[in-house]
Amino acid sequence: MNPNTRTMFRTLTLIVSLAALWSGAALALKTNKPVSDSELKKRLANFTPTTLDFDHKKLTKAQRQVVKHLVKAAQIMDQLFLIQSHPKNPALRKKLAADPKLKAQLAYFDVMFGVWDRREHNQPFWGGEMKPKGAGYYPADMTKEEFNAFLKKNPDKARAFKNYFTVIRRGKDKGLVAIPYSTFYADLLKKAAAELRAAAKASDDKRLARYLESRAAAFLSNNYRPSDMDWMELGDGRLEVVIGPYEVYEDELFGYKAAFTAFLCMRNDKYSERLQKITAFKAQMEDALPIPAEYRRFKRGAKVPITVVDEIFTAGDTKAGIQTLAFNLPNDEVVRKKKGYKLVLLKNVAEAKFKKILIPIAKRLMDADQIKLVTFDAFFTNTLMHESAHGLGPGVIEMLEEGKKVTTTVNKALKELYSTIEEAKADITGLHLSELLVKLGGLPKALSKQVFASYLAGFFRSVRFGGEAHGRANLISFNYLVEKGGIIYNPKSKKFRIDFSKIRDAVRSLSHDLLMFEARGDYEGTKAFIAKYGKMSQNMRDGIKRLKGIPVDLRPRYTVVQKMKSW
Ligand SMILES: [Zn+2]
Repeated sequence: MNPNTRTMFRTLTLIVSLAALWSGAALALKTNKPVSDSELKKRLANFTPTTLDFDHKKLTKAQRQVVKHLVKAAQIMDQLFLIQSHPKNPALRKKLAADPKLKAQLAYFDVMFGVWDRREHNQPFWGGEMKPKGAGYYPADMTKEEFNAFLKKNPDKARAFKNYFTVIRRGKDKGLVAIPYSTFYADLLKKAAAELRAAAKASDDKRLARYLESRAAAFLSNNYRPSDMDWMELGDGRLEVVIGPYEVYEDELFGYKAAFTAFLCMRNDKYSERLQKITAFKAQMEDALPIPAEYRRFKRGAKVPITVVDEIFTAGDTKAGIQTLAFNLPNDEVVRKKKGYKLVLLKNVAEAKFKKILIPIAKRLMDADQIKLVTFDAFFTNTLMHESAHGLGPGVIEMLEEGKKVTTTVNKALKELYSTIEEAKADITGLHLSELLVKLGGLPKALSKQVFASYLAGFFRSVRFGGEAHGRANLISFNYLVEKGGIIYNPKSKKFRIDFSKIRDAVRSLSHDLLMFEARGDYEGTKAFIAKYGKMSQNMRDGIKRLKGIPVDLRPRYTVVQKMKSW
């Protein structure tokens, strides 16, 4: 698994905005001062209203009925996550909605699922009350120490208390109790289960119906494993659906509790076929890795199914703050071991971010003659190649430890440096192999130059957010390619460009270096490499400063809500 796709899914959720740090806004918030209207309007403008559409003509009559019920079930996930995030949220929203002077606050509340700014370390932007680290999963006045002390006295309760799907509250004796989600959120979960069952009934896809039935049962039984197993059997039907409690990021106290969320998507034929073409050349790609043959790995573990979809509707955890580009589920390790996991890429979200954020960035930071080479087709193909490249190169390796030969994994050998190197490797090796696929007819010729220009534009967008592994991986690659002359900075125009006479060799040489750090499990070499290339250059800092006014992310508007009224 690519640790950062779920982490990406996580990262997208945990975004720390470097831009805000430069603006020094963080300082003011620490004092918990109310956020002024003008400041709030500026923050709201960071999330640009965006219509997310899908090709409903490709849905059968039955599938439209399924979608209708699933949108209703998903809207219940919105309510559930709002309460999970903070029990006072429904009442706070009512107050905001009742006062026409607080329109901006209400709009930002709906972006952030609460009065706490997820891009400013959850500082309140209205009302002044701090958000507990444990969100609404634990009593607001409970401390970590109290929780651990209680479990020390009651070790038999640890399993229920640390369970993904229980809420902790104070019992009659002021001691702590763990209440299953199926009990604590019973009313809403019963309604959601009824919608899932109605959707299952309407569905002409047996695998989807089985998943929806077993997920409905999970809402009432609190046992989510069987339906996670069924989710892995969905195959490549037209509809891709994820609904229920998954990620633990909202629980900043322990990271134990799963948040309700929903993705309602439909398969995107064009890019699913493109991906199939790419994966068909897996052996040729492994054979073309710029490393000595003995380090290439043709036998590999379980294949990770990658699905490309368009988002019809989302809800809950994933919709709060920054919108997700891809997710990798399920999280249950037992299911992952038995069935594996799936990577789902959200094409229409990627396209919206491309149009609303990436192109405006490219226009500010890239030489005008290269802007036309920045295309969504190339940008998204880079994403597909990135994910495919995660499955290439060294995995299980041999290395010398105290003179003895040992077998280990790249992950173990590179330790905390692994995810940074693996993300850079996926980006750069994917880019390097695009050329091969153009030659083999796996990718259109037009992409040959476009993938490099679109990588450069995409780079500025991801560095803007920072974020551990991805941010650093991008910095390393950028600085290395600048050093090799593949990327040039023009001090006069203060813009960047690709030097096509040098970029391919530079990318090939970087791919070689990154793959060899992995093949040798070279921790010290990797450390020195990251220290050398992992810093933000002054040109880059200046560049990011010039991105003011370009949205940070999207505020989705789903056309399905209107469309389904006529179904
Ligand atoms: Zn990745």
